[in-house]
Amino acid sequence: MEFDQVKPIVYVSRCLGFDYCRWNGDSINDSFVNRLKEFVEFHTLCPEADIGLGIPRNPVRLVRGKSTEDILMLQPATGEDCTDKMIEYSQDFLNRIERVDGFLLKNASPSCGINNIKLYANAAKGSMVAKTSGLFSAQAKARFPFAAFEDEGRLHNFIIRENWLIAIFTIARFRELDKNGKIAVLYDFHARYKYLFMSYSHKKMQNLGHLLANHHQENYDVIYHNYEKGLLELLTLSPSIARRINVLSHMFGYFSKELNAPGKQYFLNILEEYRRGAMPFIVPIELIRNWAIRFNSEYILKQSILLPYPKELLLLSDSGTGRNIKS
Ligand code: SF4
Repeated sequence: MEFDQVKPIVYVSRCLGFDYCRWNGDSINDSFVNRLKEFVEFHTLCPEADIGLGIPRNPVRLVRGKSTEDILMLQPATGEDCTDKMIEYSQDFLNRIERVDGFLLKNASPSCGINNIKLYANAAKGSMVAKTSGLFSAQAKARFPFAAFEDEGRLHNFIIRENWLIAIFTIARFRELDKNGKIAVLYDFHARYKYLFMSYSHKKMQNLGHLLANHHQENYDVIYHNYEKGLLELLTLSPSIARRINVLSHMFGYFSKELNAPGKQYFLNILEEYRRGAMPFIVPIELIRNWAIRFNSEYILKQSILLPYPKELLLLSDSGTGRNIKS
């Protein structure tokens, strides 16, 4: 399978434009989720409707139980305690998942919200004591700790959105590899991802390479699973500006002999603009791609860092929140 044809498998909150299943019978029209529909394989879930609370329904809230770890889901209007039903549903649902590359869940929901969900001292109004995770998402994170989790609110931030897209497409591409294949399949994958992995962690990229280099000591299955574990751990990190500049400098090295002094200086100026945050990463990357085409560098052209996810999903829009996140 060609890399660009891979569709990540993403479990998504159904109210994000798939059904009118919110507590008030509403649905959320999110333009980015709509755009994603063509590029990922969505599987929907609505824990509250699926456990039979109905649509519309009285809202539920999370309430601290007898101990700090004990979290209850209560429906104040009816007095119903939905905790056991929700946990049972979540575990059953998650146990039936054979493969998942990412979760895209509704923010601020006591069921789906990933974090910052209000936890109350009791079912009465105005008694918030802490922030926590939604009941379903807490179970999902425990069951799939290395899947790429995000909520639709955070995806309005450019950096968070890009990291999530890189993670789901990289995981999906890895899982499309022939699991019973030859070590050469993993070598090829690693070669394509070398610079992208370097932008996350030079050391972890090298560790993945060492796993392959020492393959004669293990059978393919063991290497595959160890590589997968290392890859998923690497993707929990984020690329930094400094590491990306290091990667760009390495890639630039392939062409520096071909370029004249003004051409080299132009690239260094662009790097400096990127370092200052005055230019997005796509600008120096496109320059590298241009040189790779011009100077016929197959090795650079196959690097996934040039196109880690479909270009149609590259939106430079940014909510403006989370600008302190380094990339
Ligand atoms: S947030 Fe989750 S539980 Fe609530 S309506 Fe959306 S999908 Fe259903």
